[in-house]
Amino acid sequence: MPYRAPLADHDFLLSQVLGFDRLSATPRFADATPETARAVMAEAARLCETTLAPLNRIGDKVGARLENGIVRTPPGFADAYRAIAQGGWIGMAARPENGGMGLPLALGTVVNEMMAGACLALQIGPLLTQGQIEALEHHASDALRATYLPKLISGEWGGTMNLTEPQAGSDVGALRSKAEPLGDGTYAVTGQKIYISWGDADFLPNICHLVLARLPDAAPGTAGISLFLVPKFIPDAEGNPGRRNSLSVVSLEHKLGLHGSPTCVMQYDAAQGWLVGEEHRGMAAMFTMMNNARLGVAVQGVGVAEAAFQQALAYAEGRVQGRTPTGRAPITDHADVRRMLATMRAQVFSARAIALSCAVAIDMASATGAPEWQARAALLTPIAKAYGTDTGNEVAQLGVQIHGGMGFVEETGAAQFARDVRVTSIYEGTNGIQAMDLTARKMSDGGAAAFALIDEVQAAAEAARASHPDLATDVWNAAEALREGTEALLKQDLTDRFAGAAPYLRAFALVLGADAHLRAAHVAGGARAALARVAIRRLLPAHAAHLAEAREGAAQLYALSPEDLAA
Ligand SMILES: Cc1cc2nc3c(=O)[nH]c(=O)nc-3n(C[C@H](O)[C@H](O)[C@H](O)COP(=O)(O)OP(=O)(O)OC[C@H]3O[C@@H](n4cnc5c(N)ncnc54)[C@H](O)[C@@H]3O)c2cc1C
Repeated sequence: MPYRAPLADHDFLLSQVLGFDRLSATPRFADATPETARAVMAEAARLCETTLAPLNRIGDKVGARLENGIVRTPPGFADAYRAIAQGGWIGMAARPENGGMGLPLALGTVVNEMMAGACLALQIGPLLTQGQIEALEHHASDALRATYLPKLISGEWGGTMNLTEPQAGSDVGALRSKAEPLGDGTYAVTGQKIYISWGDADFLPNICHLVLARLPDAAPGTAGISLFLVPKFIPDAEGNPGRRNSLSVVSLEHKLGLHGSPTCVMQYDAAQGWLVGEEHRGMAAMFTMMNNARLGVAVQGVGVAEAAFQQALAYAEGRVQGRTPTGRAPITDHADVRRMLATMRAQVFSARAIALSCAVAIDMASATGAPEWQARAALLTPIAKAYGTDTGNEVAQLGVQIHGGMGFVEETGAAQFARDVRVTSIYEGTNGIQAMDLTARKMSDGGAAAFALIDEVQAAAEAARASHPDLATDVWNAAEALREGTEALLKQDLTDRFAGAAPYLRAFALVLGADAHLRAAHVAGGARAALARVAIRRLLPAHAAHLAEAREGAAQLYALSPEDLAA
């Protein structure tokens, strides 16, 4: 089943549910009219369907390879990457003064989701470049910005993000890479980084690595980390790739999926680097990149979920098994298969709505500078990342299930979706780390941002009582339970919060997803209301179980020692 970009859902969500017109009403995004948005999405959809999607299987089968220190990308990836670059898609949300289009991140997020659904292994490359562009826009010196941004925004050069080391994964503060001042304002960066996505590619004339490392006088932990831009080729006076820097790809990881994406072990041997932001403030600069990337990874999950759903539906419509009262039946006529398909569709809509509302909040924050929008964006980022990628995994697994045995063999592609999307709940901060972020840092305002959002959910439910009284009551009550759950969470110490962080995040996402479905039902009725009924009556009730778990605290978990668990 060829991938079809879900344009109708995106358009509906942005225009009817999430208030995209609020963005067009700001001076910053005045050019992003609904008509422009539709034209942009349609053009991206064409690229995804015709150029990217046909590469998904090839990327999986052939994979990226390391030959004599150079990463060979799968056939077709180079041309598709160029098509993405030439279409201006990498710099969609970048600032116009640097060569970007200055469009809202909400639109960029739609496009990222479509590209991920079409070919995740390829999409991750441009996504990391986008994150680097944002980090440089905010933190780099004028000179660095002038040299690098136009080339990154045009897609001529690529960008990577280098945090992870063997002993420093989630615990970034444990990293050991070093940076020594060279006396000319630049630094010699030394160390090994692992799992670096798109650390090299045969078709890119230059790759710019953002590397976290420690200066000689650095404090231990995250407070002592600085950020450096380390290009593969050092730009000459004209800004073209010049001398080869002393860095190399040592090997590629052998992975469960995402074979078309080169995941590199990188070695830096006194490679020349330039400081980005202030000394010892590298984490702050990197967080700019990571927040962008977290939303990008959220929609990687949604995009793959969409593709897995489309494929499962098409398969189910053609697969005949068993009988119904009217005769031999395609499996779509069986209630359990219909349940799985409806669950997939409802969950994708919820996860997409949460991710896009996060993007709208980021855009509104940058257009207005209002702290409420900043707080909203910060609150939604971990929810969007964890729920979007959990949805990717769960929907892809349901896709395998609907295919039966054909899901477990590779020809159909159902298994590839499940393999490829698995990593999205691991990288960019595992989903456990996202949940801890939600329950600790994002609650440091005493829950103000969470309560403001819950108030809005309840106000929308009140408005929807006229059209869907039973659904509105369910959503209002679930939001109230979330409010009480949040109050209980705020009384817990951090250890207890962390023991319930993942179920708390899930409950929050279920309420937000139900809210989006209810709004959709209210404005559109018909099939949107039927889908809302599935989301609210079948999926939402789990919020109560998750909130109950979140109240349980940590003691019972620590009462079971690793030895007890092994007994
Ligand atoms: C395909 C792929 C691509 C990647 N791309 C990049 C990249 O481009 N750049 C880059 O820098 N990195 C990249 N990574 C690395 C990725 O971000 C890390 O794998 C991730 O941050 C987790 O670190 P870890 O693997 O060391 O797991 P660990 O940190 O060892 O975590 C193992 C488990 O312990 C849990 N855990 C760890 N610490 C805590 C804690 N304090 N509290 C509660 N639970 C905890 C985690 O949630 C997880 O479940 C990539 C990884 C993969 C697999």
